Amino acid sequence: MTTDILIIGGGLTGIAAAYEIIKDSDLEVTLLQCGGGASPYIHGFCLPVGEGDSEELFYADSMASGYQQSRASLVKRLCHDSLTLQDYFAELGLSVDADENGYRLIKSLGSSVARIAGIENHTGPAMMSRLRKRLNSSKNYREYGNFRALELVKDGDRVCGAYCYDKDTDRFCTIGAKLVILATGGFGKLFPESTNSADIGGDGCAMAYLAGAKMTDMEFIQFEPSAAVWPPELVGKSIITTMFYEGAVLRGKDGNRFMLRYSEDGERVSKDMQSKCICDEIRRNGATEHGGVWFDATAVPQALWEGVYKLYRNRYLAYGIDMCKEPVEIAPAAHTTCGGALIDENCRTGIPGLLACGEVTGGLHGANRLGGNAGLETMVFGRVAGQTALKDFDPSARPATATDEPNRASEEDIADLRMALQFLLRRNLGVIRNEKLLKGGIEQTDVLLSFLGDHKGCFEKHRLYNDLLTAKIALLSALERKESVGCHYREDSQKEELPYRIIIQNKDGQCALSKESV
Ligand SMILES: Cc1cc2nc3c(=O)[nH]c(=O)nc-3n(C[C@H](O)[C@H](O)[C@H](O)COP(=O)(O)OP(=O)(O)OC[C@H]3O[C@@H](n4cnc5c(N)ncnc54)[C@H](O)[C@@H]3O)c2cc1C
Repeated sequence: MTTDILIIGGGLTGIAAAYEIIKDSDLEVTLLQCGGGASPYIHGFCLPVGEGDSEELFYADSMASGYQQSRASLVKRLCHDSLTLQDYFAELGLSVDADENGYRLIKSLGSSVARIAGIENHTGPAMMSRLRKRLNSSKNYREYGNFRALELVKDGDRVCGAYCYDKDTDRFCTIGAKLVILATGGFGKLFPESTNSADIGGDGCAMAYLAGAKMTDMEFIQFEPSAAVWPPELVGKSIITTMFYEGAVLRGKDGNRFMLRYSEDGERVSKDMQSKCICDEIRRNGATEHGGVWFDATAVPQALWEGVYKLYRNRYLAYGIDMCKEPVEIAPAAHTTCGGALIDENCRTGIPGLLACGEVTGGLHGANRLGGNAGLETMVFGRVAGQTALKDFDPSARPATATDEPNRASEEDIADLRMALQFLLRRNLGVIRNEKLLKGGIEQTDVLLSFLGDHKGCFEKHRLYNDLLTAKIALLSALERKESVGCHYREDSQKEELPYRIIIQNKDGQCALSKESV
């Protein structure tokens, strides 16, 4: 199969890019996905339209949240384009949630003013369904679910397609394309405790890295401080941290409000700080029965449980727990990954034929993403990628030749290797890191890679290879960054000259590490 433009990833970023191309051209677009990724969970997104807000204040907040480690040109683009979105929503027949007092905006941790907006009280699904409807009515658009891209194919320096696995036929194929957009989301699901869905993982970063992209900020993995550890059906489901502005507090296993020990602002600190404090509290004083601390939201006003927080209350009520009346058990879980393929403000990766957008990229969020900026990123950079694809499209580019081959079953059971990867990430690349843990993690990843052996032609092995490679790049970056910054916390932190960015690139099959100014 060949196509003009191949989009890998069907989250909000991928489909926003597809819509941008379809509406303004006759180009044929093929989109691959194996689920909706994290996008259906997007509740709110930053929109700097509230009282006292401005593009400049939003920029300053985003840079401060990222510890000045972000690529300024990306943050500028995000903040500037956020103000053009109202027209885009109108074009899709959507509008930002409002009431008689104006836009309904919530303040998030790290924002100077109320800035988190919503659409139809659940932004991700609302936008995705509108965009999909438009896409599905276009004769130039094809979408394949159950398709997993595993490797990008190159013709010289240029990306010209992707090697994929089709779950329905249990076969591999090469899809040739004149331009490829990578939008595969983050790699948080590699951790055993994660808020993410099963369809995302390390493929995107591994594909970008192997194709020669500069991988950056891979050490900055944001842990959601308040993810359920009980009941089992809700494990990994996060509770929105805006509740800390409405009276919710954290308590240790014996009921003490431990956050006051770390900050006079109590729970109203950044997510990275909260995660670190929760892990430290568990280490010092032990965990609740199911391995966490208490999230006590019993002081949150009743009216909010009927409105914005209804979703959370109902989620627990289904299992006989009423958050209004009793605390619930939570612990940090891997949530958003801030790193990935370094892009410029037009989503170019520096590799001819390859654009990237969304959570698979690095540079925008720096050391710590501002709450609501990932949702906004999907809309802004999805559109940017589509617009750049129209500019960069080269009709004379040669797509890869289509191939078709059967899957080879793995001779060994590799489930234990995957489990070993999960446990090593939890232990060696978790919230609290040090040199010994990180070095050990890299060694163990190499051992697992050697146990895996030849992964070509075997789907499960190829996928695990990509996940191991992504984990190794993140571990190498975390080892190299010796000072704690943002969501990268080292208990053996050493002072360094900040800010700088770590780049890892594939040079003759080796992970070559370098540093650049941000
Ligand atoms: C529970 C949760 C709640 C969140 N809430 C918010 C929020 O309220 N506000 C906010 O700003 N951010 C939020 N985030 C973060 C935000 O949702 C993500 O950063 C964002 O959705 C990423 O969008 P994306 O399009 O880049 O990737 P995703 O939405 O993750 O989509 C990735 C797509 O790529 C596909 N894919 C992956 N690998 C392959 C492959 N190898 N081949 C083919 N397809 C592949 C997947 O199937 C999927 O279609 C939340 C995240 C989570 C997990």
